[in-house]
Amino acid sequence: MTEVERHTFDVVVVGAGGAGLRAAIEAREQGMRTAVICKSLFGKAHTVMAEGGIAAAMGNVNSGDTWQVHFRDTMRGGKFLNHWRMAELHAQEAPDRVWELETWGALFDRTGDGRISQRNFGGHEYPRLAHVGDRTGLELIRTLQQKVVSLQQQDFAEYGDYEARLRILQECTVTRICKDGDRVSGVFGYVRDSGRFFTVEAPAVVLATGGIGKSFKVTSNSWEYTGDGHALALLAGASLLNMEFVQFHPTGMVWPPSVKGILVTESVRGDGGVLRNSDGRRFMFDYVPDVFKGQYAQSEEEADRWYADPDRNRRPPELLPRDEVARAINTEVKAGRGSPHGGVFLDVSTRLPAEEIIRRLPSMHHQFKELADVDITREPMEVGPTCHYVMGGVAVDPDTAAAPGVPGLFAAGEVAGGMHGSNRLGGNSLSDLLVFGRRAGLHAAAYAAGLGTGLGTGPGAGRPGIDPAQVDRAAAEAVAPFDGARAGGRAAENPYTLHQELQQTMNDLVGIVRRAEEMAEALERLAGLRERAARAVVEGHRQFNPGWHLALDLRNMLLVSECVARAALERTESRGGHTRDDHPEMDRAWRSVNLYCSLADSGSVAVERRPNPPIRPDLLDLFAAEELAKYLTEAELPAAAVTAP
Ligand code: FAD
Repeated sequence: MTEVERHTFDVVVVGAGGAGLRAAIEAREQGMRTAVICKSLFGKAHTVMAEGGIAAAMGNVNSGDTWQVHFRDTMRGGKFLNHWRMAELHAQEAPDRVWELETWGALFDRTGDGRISQRNFGGHEYPRLAHVGDRTGLELIRTLQQKVVSLQQQDFAEYGDYEARLRILQECTVTRICKDGDRVSGVFGYVRDSGRFFTVEAPAVVLATGGIGKSFKVTSNSWEYTGDGHALALLAGASLLNMEFVQFHPTGMVWPPSVKGILVTESVRGDGGVLRNSDGRRFMFDYVPDVFKGQYAQSEEEADRWYADPDRNRRPPELLPRDEVARAINTEVKAGRGSPHGGVFLDVSTRLPAEEIIRRLPSMHHQFKELADVDITREPMEVGPTCHYVMGGVAVDPDTAAAPGVPGLFAAGEVAGGMHGSNRLGGNSLSDLLVFGRRAGLHAAAYAAGLGTGLGTGPGAGRPGIDPAQVDRAAAEAVAPFDGARAGGRAAENPYTLHQELQQTMNDLVGIVRRAEEMAEALERLAGLRERAARAVVEGHRQFNPGWHLALDLRNMLLVSECVARAALERTESRGGHTRDDHPEMDRAWRSVNLYCSLADSGSVAVERRPNPPIRPDLLDLFAAEELAKYLTEAELPAAAVTAP
């Protein structure tokens, strides 16, 4: 029997970013004994990198803002593919989640009259992002950590044990979800420094593992984003929804090569920055698509007036949703009008006084000075698209965050699908992870409480237990890369080489602009990489062994990349974060189609089309009939829109 360290809790949360911490706080506040597991050090999750802010219709800067306007913007941004119920809950609950953060100690920037300040961002009709300079994620995580500590202090006062009901297991990687019959029974993983194995037995598992960006070569994402939660869910029998939608943020650094992909926050454009090509032209005016005509300025003069008088002018086209701006930059560069290092110019130096730039964008000023020797108060930045966010994710019930068909499994934050449709608006992730992190924690706690306390080993009443045979299999899978014999007499594979080839494949063949032959080729290459990954061998032992960690992460990246490529090949239209050269138009017939990826017994990925639930009529009433007619088929349109001119 495998030697493992065993823990037992009521709820285990995998991930300590915003979604995971918010879920854990909620589960603990419901009285559940809760464990949080994270790959990195506690406090180092990806969420700390978030810069621009948290989108919430608080109406502090423009009182016209309401949840209905936020809902409308979110659906428009996602090109109406969003799960309407998630978009509704998100828009309604985001303000409460921000105010709650403030009561827990978050120090947001203020308006002149002392309210939480809100800034402009692409696709948001009103200034909506609550922020702390350009370091909002850091403050969000700091605040949630502080809340965790205060709950632990309460437990110490009550039980004499800080970790009685809330324990953090940091630098631990989960590699398998355990099941008892159909039900989830906990997780298996390894401690990164010692290499020792552990299990956490718990009837409710919340996945909050973030995104998948490390499968792409140019990305704003950190080393943690290897799609673990997506793969863990698939392997546990859940489905992934609409994985073809991957967001390429328009503005990543392009130079020097060592920092290529690092994010340049959208706040630069929200605060007045403009995009120019090598001819000095503000080219975004040439790229306003039909669905957005009427909402964006037609001239530079009008766009510039908007910053001072947003009620009487239309927004600058630099603030179109990210997919539109990323495609426009891609086109300009391909047409030979790019900057010296293959991007375009983003200029804030001629738009704001130097001291204002440093006040509003301190991290950007520091980042360019330190990494590229560029002073953004004096010269433009060079920027280009970078893989940033995955809209696709674990299919969940919108109200409870539960994964249908896998009792006890929940998902929230970037790992969950549905909320953002085909394209996420900036700022809507931090609000998403607070709203649905809380919901996942709440419903995971209710589920665990509903099972009672008796430990059982089979399906039926009581709590599910961890099957030792599953633990043995998970341990054997984890140590396999140390076994030189697995190469079967052929050359052993190096996990770093495989990773580089995977990243290049996804970048070149399933990237920002896609076509059928290239994706078919990508699938062939991925199959080859999967076969070679079974021969990946690492040296040394289990202590502090990053090569081993990568060999295990490869399983996840390859599975998730296959889902992205298969779904992208299946969807024969262009929408949001999925652009097909061979099907360049958005097709209304595809709006009501969701693509679900699941894992067949053979281990191959299957893609299935299922209907996107119809949008509730009172929510459709928030849109003009002419606008709905651009997105919905006639069968889906309310009678008023069908008769609109
Ligand atoms: P994360 O914060 O990434 O947390 C994931 C957690 O899961 C980590 O603790 C990790 O260690 C853990 N984990 C992963 N795999 C495993 C495993 N196998 N075992 C154990 N633990 C695991 N969004 C906005 O709304 N506004 C912004 O201004 C904004 N700015 C951004 C700036 C940058 C540079 C980037 C990259 C993103 C930005 N985003 C922004 C997006 C947003 O930050 C992320 O989508 C969001 O933080 C994801 O949060 P999460 O809680 O889902 O995951």
